[in-house]
Amino acid sequence: MEKADKVAKIEPVQLGLKSRFKFKCHPKVKCFTHCCRGINIILTPYDIIRLKNRLGVSSEQFLAIYTTPQILEKTDLAVVTLKLMDDDQQSCPFVRDDGCLVYSDRPTTCRYYPLGVATLSHKEATAEEGFFFFVNEPHCLGFEEDQEWDIAQWRRDQGVDRHDEINAEWTELLVRKRSFPANIKITEQGKRMFFMASYNIDTFRQFIFESSFLKRYEIDPPTIAQIKSDEIALLKFGMRWLKWLLFKEGEFKLRSPS
Ligand code: SF4
Ligand code: SF4
Repeated sequence: MEKADKVAKIEPVQLGLKSRFKFKCHPKVKCFTHCCRGINIILTPYDIIRLKNRLGVSSEQFLAIYTTPQILEKTDLAVVTLKLMDDDQQSCPFVRDDGCLVYSDRPTTCRYYPLGVATLSHKEATAEEGFFFFVNEPHCLGFEEDQEWDIAQWRRDQGVDRHDEINAEWTELLVRKRSFPANIKITEQGKRMFFMASYNIDTFRQFIFESSFLKRYEIDPPTIAQIKSDEIALLKFGMRWLKWLLFKEGEFKLRSPS
């Protein structure tokens, strides 16, 4: 995780899935939970679904209580970051002395740490969006431990493969927008739709089922049934719709006016 005030100073050394490193994090390291304070954690759509379900709140409530929106550089699109506590150390709201209160549902960035992913974290990455780097923070003593990994093993161990697979279409939208010339703009309406479909899944569900959406678009009945009951299917549907709405790619058919 990145220190909030040092985001621009990271100079990533490119690592691939086979790059090896020594690292172990456990409650006995002297720095235990130091990395959960003064941090900048961008939340992915799947992170928000996991956390809001874990906490038993709606996505609207989760966004209001736990997040701060910010524009992701070179995309003109909003991402949300975890809102830190107003204490001396700017702690994550979920950190306790004995560890993370939401550990099994912790965000993707926390799972990757001490690695960062270029797509979201390295602002200058344009050509190669998929590489990894070490978030070299001096307080982290995990690198002095003896356990050896390659990056693919670390990803499996931390459960990020599933997170990345579910977030893949959202990540692709950000990468796509970042690669566009700066003068190609997304409308304010398009930005609002991006925010809702990406982060506010409960409101997006209401938008689909309680507005004229299903009258305007031809969506087949099995898809309607699936997105009604399955949040991940709804999220992926939303990403396909955004791709069509923002970039005119993929298949979305408007009904002809009767
Ligand atoms: S070893 Fe690194 S990741 Fe683990 S608690 Fe310490 S600072 Fe955090
Ligand atoms: S969510 Fe958990 S792992 Fe991530 S910063 Fe907060 S306390 Fe640490």
